[in-house]
Order: sequence, then C-alpha cells, then structure tokens
Amino acid sequence: MHVLPDRKTDQLRPSSNFDQLEQEALELLRLIFADKIHGKAALVSSFGSESAVLLHLASRVDPDIPVLFIDTLMLFEETLHYQLELAQTLGLSNVIRILPDLHKARDADPYGRLHLSDPDSCCDLRKIKPLEENLCQYNAWVSGRKRFHGEDRALLAVQEVDEQGRHKFNPLADWQAGDIKAYFERHELPRNPLFYRGFRSIGCSPCTVAVGDGEDARSGRWQGQEKTECGIHLVDGKLVKKNTANEATR
Ligand code: SF4
Repeated sequence: MHVLPDRKTDQLRPSSNFDQLEQEALELLRLIFADKIHGKAALVSSFGSESAVLLHLASRVDPDIPVLFIDTLMLFEETLHYQLELAQTLGLSNVIRILPDLHKARDADPYGRLHLSDPDSCCDLRKIKPLEENLCQYNAWVSGRKRFHGEDRALLAVQEVDEQGRHKFNPLADWQAGDIKAYFERHELPRNPLFYRGFRSIGCSPCTVAVGDGEDARSGRWQGQEKTECGIHLVDGKLVKKNTANEATR
C-alpha cells in the first residue's frame, strides 16, 4: 500500500504511551463489539481524513461490525470513492450507507441550497434525523472524535450516554495528532485523498474548506459561521453532559 508523506504541520511525534493507547482502544472495541457489554452496537464513520484509524482498529476485532456511513448527498466525490476503497481494504463487510429521506429533502431543500440559509436545519435533515432513525436499533455506538480537535470536543470523555440513553464511546478521545499519524504509518493505512489537499476535517463539500499549516483541523468546517458541529454530538447546541467516564475503559 502506498503512503504519501504528511504535510509539515503533521510531523508530530506520537505520545510516549502510544502503544498503550492503541491497546486500550483495541480492548475497548473488543468489549463493545466482541463481548457486547452493552448489547447491539454500531460504529459511525464519516470516512474522513482520520477515519481509517478507528475503522482499522474495529476491523481487527471484527470486520463484520455495522459501520454507519451518513451520505448527506452533499459529500465530496473523493470521500465516496475512499469509502468504497477503504472498506474493501479493511475487509469491512457491513457498511450501511444512510441517506436522507428523499421526499423530505425534496420538500425542504429542493435546490440543495438550505445549507446557505439554515445550516442547522440542513444538518438536521441530512444527518441527524437519518442517523437517529438508524441508531434507534442499537444499544451503543462508537465515534472517532478526539479531544485534541478542541472547541466543543476539548472535554470529551471516552464514554458518554446520549440523550436517548444509549452508551456512546469515543475510543480515540485521548489520542493526539501525532498518535493518529503514527497509527497511519504503523499500519500503512491510506488517507482520504482530500487530506493531501489541506482538508484536515472532511464533511460536506459546500461546508468544508482546506486549512492552512498550523490551523485547527476543524477550522475548515462551516468557516465564517458560529456553527462548529453538525449536531450529532450535541443537543441544542450544547455538549451532552450525561458523561459517565469509565476509567476502566481508558
Ligand atoms: S454540513 Fe452543510 S451541506 Fe452537510 S448537512 Fe450540514 S449544512 Fe448541509
């Protein structure tokens, strides 16, 4: 597998306990997906610039786990191709592509411009509602969010409880940018090709721009707006506070 060199700003060293971080994330995923400590669980992935790390870890536990991929119909072509290629590379056999309700999308956003006038409603229509309709069949879910992305994620716990009472896990919460880079290199994982064009956090094409060296990864999302999250991880614009950080899983 061919791995391109990272950009200058990503030439960061892994944490001194990087091996331990990897083992802890793997063990947590084993508890969730192999031991099913909370019952039926799914992993949610955007197939963005860092997604291959969590997907690879999960594939080491069980390549047949449900991977929910939200296709808003506004994604980059590169992400759609990458999703197919990465799933094949990792042997992920159960990627579930989640689409918005096409009738509702046609009614609420007939010209595909709702993101310009009301991005919160657009995210609700294209991401939050479709995900919620699928997540309701699971007892637990897993995301790839990390604390180093800052802002609303700076206080992220490894384990949370969402508004519906489902267990929500963030196995990479403690990871730093250098750990992500080191994992890509250790396991020779391919990046979303947009990463090499400066896209460090990749969402929908109308709402994502490349960022400069040294800028926060998520500063390219909804640039120029107060909005920083699609709402999947927030309730009414605030972090869900029902955290139940479980030190045993860190
Ligand atoms: S990120 Fe932009 S285009 Fe995508 S669902 Fe949200 S507002 Fe709409």
